[in-house]
Amino acid sequence: MLNLRVLKKFSSSFEQIGIENTKKLIDSLGNYYSSLAYGPIKPLETVAKLPTELPMDPVPFDKVIERIQTFIYPKNLNWQHPMFYAWFPFSLSWEAVQAEILLSALGPENFRSLKDIGTQIEVCVLDWIAQMIGLPKQFHHSVGPGGGYTYATASQAVLTAMACAKLRKPVPKPLVYFSDQTHFSVEKAARVLGLEYRVIPAVYDPAVHNYPMSIHKLKEQIYLDKKNGHTPIFVCGTIGTTNLGATDDLVSLGEISNIEDMWFHIDAAYAGCLCILPELKYKLQGVELCTSFNANSHKMMLSGFGSSNMWVKDSKYFTNYLSDSSSDLNTSKDLDFKNWKFNTENEVKALKVWMVIQQRGVIGIKKHLQDHINATKYMESLVLQHGGFEVITRRDFGLLNFRVKGNNEKTERILQKLADNPRILLLGSNFNGQPFIRFATSSSFEDLSNINETFEIIKSYYDE
Ligand code: PLP
Repeated sequence: MLNLRVLKKFSSSFEQIGIENTKKLIDSLGNYYSSLAYGPIKPLETVAKLPTELPMDPVPFDKVIERIQTFIYPKNLNWQHPMFYAWFPFSLSWEAVQAEILLSALGPENFRSLKDIGTQIEVCVLDWIAQMIGLPKQFHHSVGPGGGYTYATASQAVLTAMACAKLRKPVPKPLVYFSDQTHFSVEKAARVLGLEYRVIPAVYDPAVHNYPMSIHKLKEQIYLDKKNGHTPIFVCGTIGTTNLGATDDLVSLGEISNIEDMWFHIDAAYAGCLCILPELKYKLQGVELCTSFNANSHKMMLSGFGSSNMWVKDSKYFTNYLSDSSSDLNTSKDLDFKNWKFNTENEVKALKVWMVIQQRGVIGIKKHLQDHINATKYMESLVLQHGGFEVITRRDFGLLNFRVKGNNEKTERILQKLADNPRILLLGSNFNGQPFIRFATSSSFEDLSNINETFEIIKSYYDE
């Protein structure tokens, strides 16, 4: 017979232990983050292996923390490490961690039951971000007919947009267009959806000292494709391409999309939220012409991973194709984000940005964005003052691409030395057969002294 009193006592002490253990885990994470700057960034030796035997009895929590430490600490390859300059930022904050705790402790259903507070948070946050960026009114839930939603990643967002574009225009030979600098997730979406695509070259434009998609080549390609019986259905323009930080000519892309009746998606996964800064608003020229616009919170809005916002100019562009078709479930006129995406559960990912905005305000968000840009501006000033380097594309955002003047040999040697140095993670890339050093700060806790140290390392390799 089950003894309920014993069971109740056991479960309440078990809950108490759970709370204490969770506090311990948070403390251990706090220690981890404060020690991060002092450790090497790359693995010093082989990372400890996790024990693989199935635990028959509970493992004491201190032992669990010890195990976690063996596979996190020695490696140290964390995007918040101050010497981490690879790819684009992955921004994290304790506010986002607090939201994750709330979400997993309460469960999304709890947010839905309170007069659907989850949907209210989503609507409110997406309108706030739209307002800060300055997206046109049709993208705001409060005005409409469009609005936004928090997807997990930019890849998931573009797959959703492209799937709806395909369903919107059911033609025999549909075509998707993007440039050779567009993020791979766009090509991947086309492949997954069985859509044929054309990759348009990005060409140098001296006016912007960067490589946006060639509008001339795009027009030429569309003309040829239509002659061969194809129908353009989707084009993707980018604000802040991954490799070079270029921005496509959104006005021209919008006009072409209008003429061809194409879905026009803007991928601003990295740079979209940076356009909150007044100095970058000009990058949004043409945004009023797009069908959908994507900007990741996990890159610049401190939300931690799994938070990518996409707005659509009219919600019907999603709901017409993604709504539940069973008549009894589809009668409500209420906003239901299940009808904006593939998965059917309603998460409340926007809570993470909600927590950040509550605790920092617009002022704090702007400061974080400005710190990111200033860190790269500072690096740019050191690079230019040195005289031996050249910046290969204009630094508009927080991405700086530079190389040693002259042939490629010295740049290649510096990149190799950087790869071998356990103190720093700074990667190279290449374009048109030319290697370059690709610098983007990632940590949410920027410090200019790290930039000095980083440049000293590069300079010492240059001098060797
Ligand atoms: N688009 C651009 C311009 C990116 O730079 C990236 C990633 O760096 C992505 C899309 C993919 O983002 P996600 O990891 O959210 O799918």
